[in-house]
Amino acid sequence: MDAADGRKSEGTGRIDEASLGREQGLHSWLVGALAIARYHGIDLDPTTFRLDPATPVPSPAVLVEWIREQGMWAKAVRLKWQQLLRLETTGPVLLLMKDGGAVLMVEADAARNVIFVKEPTISGGGVTVPVDELRLSQVWDGEVVLIRSQRSDEEQDISLSFGFLSKLVLQERGILRSVAFASLIITFLTIVPILIVFSAIQRVLEYGSMSTLLLVTIILVVAVVLDAILTHARGNLLQVVSTRVDAKIQLFVFKRLLSLPLDYFERTQSGVIGQAIGKVYQIREFITGRLLETFIDATMLLILLPVMFFMSATLAWTVVAAAGLIMLIIACFLRPIRILTGKVSAAESRKFSVLVESLHGIKTVKSLALESARYSQWDEYVAQAGDLRLQAGRLALWPTTLTLPLQRYCQYGVMLLGGYIALTSKSNAEIGSLMAFSMISMRTAGPLIGFTKLMQDFEEVRATMGEAQAVLNNPPEVRGIDRGLRPVFAGALEFDGVSFTYQGSQRPALDDVNFSVPAGTMLGLVGRSGSGKSTITRLLQGISRDYSGFLKIDGVELRSINLRHLRRNFGVVLQENFLFRGSIRDNIIGGRAGLTMEDVVRAARLAGAEEFIERMPNGYDTFIQEGSPNLSGGQRQRIAIARALIVDPRLMILDEATSALDPESEALVNANLKRIGAGRTMVIVSHRLASLVDCTAIIVMDKGTVLDVGTHAELVERCSVYRMLWLQQNRHMTENQGNTRHGSPTPVLAQGD
Ligand code: ATP
Ligand code: MG
Repeated sequence: MDAADGRKSEGTGRIDEASLGREQGLHSWLVGALAIARYHGIDLDPTTFRLDPATPVPSPAVLVEWIREQGMWAKAVRLKWQQLLRLETTGPVLLLMKDGGAVLMVEADAARNVIFVKEPTISGGGVTVPVDELRLSQVWDGEVVLIRSQRSDEEQDISLSFGFLSKLVLQERGILRSVAFASLIITFLTIVPILIVFSAIQRVLEYGSMSTLLLVTIILVVAVVLDAILTHARGNLLQVVSTRVDAKIQLFVFKRLLSLPLDYFERTQSGVIGQAIGKVYQIREFITGRLLETFIDATMLLILLPVMFFMSATLAWTVVAAAGLIMLIIACFLRPIRILTGKVSAAESRKFSVLVESLHGIKTVKSLALESARYSQWDEYVAQAGDLRLQAGRLALWPTTLTLPLQRYCQYGVMLLGGYIALTSKSNAEIGSLMAFSMISMRTAGPLIGFTKLMQDFEEVRATMGEAQAVLNNPPEVRGIDRGLRPVFAGALEFDGVSFTYQGSQRPALDDVNFSVPAGTMLGLVGRSGSGKSTITRLLQGISRDYSGFLKIDGVELRSINLRHLRRNFGVVLQENFLFRGSIRDNIIGGRAGLTMEDVVRAARLAGAEEFIERMPNGYDTFIQEGSPNLSGGQRQRIAIARALIVDPRLMILDEATSALDPESEALVNANLKRIGAGRTMVIVSHRLASLVDCTAIIVMDKGTVLDVGTHAELVERCSVYRMLWLQQNRHMTENQGNTRHGSPTPVLAQGD
């Protein structure tokens, strides 16, 4: 290990005072947090606490974030004395002092108006002293960090459902109440002018009363202005609601997506996943759009219906009957529409997958000139989707067409009927009130029909919801991520009868694998393609945990280890490594808190990347585009190695990390391997045996089983498969030794066995 790595404290869970005491205040904060965690039965690893160089002064937010990363629940709040007294907690509370120190509040006694505090110590010992409000206020201004163990599955187990989405919307009920209130007034404002106009117009005409006309005009203008203002305000509120709900949904969806296990993404087309995410927004639009609209309409009906019945019960009933008929017609179409919508959706998914796949593999598409093949596939799916869409659209036209006459009845028909009733009953109904009624009935029919439209849309959204759920409600990996042991790793590996079969596969990828290596081993893995080398590294990273047998790291069964902790202690470099958009430095740091430029340079040096980075015009600030086209394969690989090394992992996995490199870059990386491997366990998968010669142990895999374990010299001696591979790859050397030009290696191989 590098001398600069002193910050890693060895030993288990004991606090190395020097390693923590970067800041005077930090020390007691951390100790306090550790003590509370221990109270809850969890040992935090203080060595993982790092401060961002940009903000070297610790803030409650940084502490809280760290505690959360460690899998506990934490929250920084500001409390008043009275709140502190009444705090309902199940454990000690961390009070942050003005001077940067901290104390633990272990108990509060509201009756006596005192709290009991003590200095934080890891052991949990120490003297408890009572403190009253006055004394505390001199040293404390209200900052508190609440810490407890993760409540059982709290938010992680929330899955996507209508219930969940509605809950998100209902969280805005304060605003929704205002919306409803505004809607009531708006409705009122639209009815009153109608009533006034039609009752007054006759008088104006009969008596030629200019002043009445003026009054009516003023009232109308005021009503219209108010109406406009309120409608605007309501629109504003609705925007706020949908934006907030949208933000919450987006956070939820992304978190949920990231929590899905890797093998889910391997099994599922990325198009399907992308499509499903898009669907969530359709659902959101339904909820904040159509659903809210209907909700507003419902409040309008509350006013409109009574007014209508008051004006003319007979006419009102006919309107209600017409609306009922409309609902019936639409209801009949619901099922066929739903079936067709489902088909459209599936076709769209297929189409989308072609698009995503083509973009994803655009290099292959271009270099193999597959454009036309991809295009014709796209063409086919577009046609299929278009066809279905046309059918669905045509079908959806029918209910609209069939209900149109009924809708028109609500608008004009009632007037004719009203006229007829007025004539036959000889009552002197005024033309004004008849027109008023028809205008109101027009407004009533809309919301009534809206309910049925809502049902129709709901059917569509239900299908959509199913698709989104199929992706997002897969069991997340989170269970393992946030639970389990957090041992301090040394790096001894043990496979004890491990077998593993991939989902949907018949043959086991690993079949009763047994081996064990001590910490600090440089372990090589060789074997034919498909022999299970990568599978071993995947199991080690906890990507798949449903293996049989036992896989132990330092004697601790992997299934009981906290996944996040495990992966933080691993550095992994694959054949193809993804570099994110951003500077080289950002890529090496990878967003992990508390890493400095010094760490970056140290990691780059160890990875053999320093020299080429420094030759670049902008050095560590060189910007890397998506897909890193401005870097060579070797450079990309060395950055990836630096990225893995920067956290000084105890375990390092290199899976064909140098296979795609040119001999020179490969030699460079290989030359560093020994230095990289010092002080950690390395698992190196490589097809090129030459890069494994220095390994402390090499495992030869074949068809999922371990064929042999030994050093290079031993294996050449006794393992035929290894010897054959070695001779194949180093033919030229053998030839040179034997001085046989064009000599075939076959005789040598034949001797193998
Ligand atoms: P290579 O040298 O080609 O990388 P490998 O030794 O790393 O090969 P593995 O990737 O471990 O081989 O694969 C072992 C077996 O498991 C293979 O038969 C492969 O077909 C199968 N396999 C690997 N990954 C999956 C997967 N995601 N789903 C199903 N089967 C898989
Ligand atoms: Mg592999």
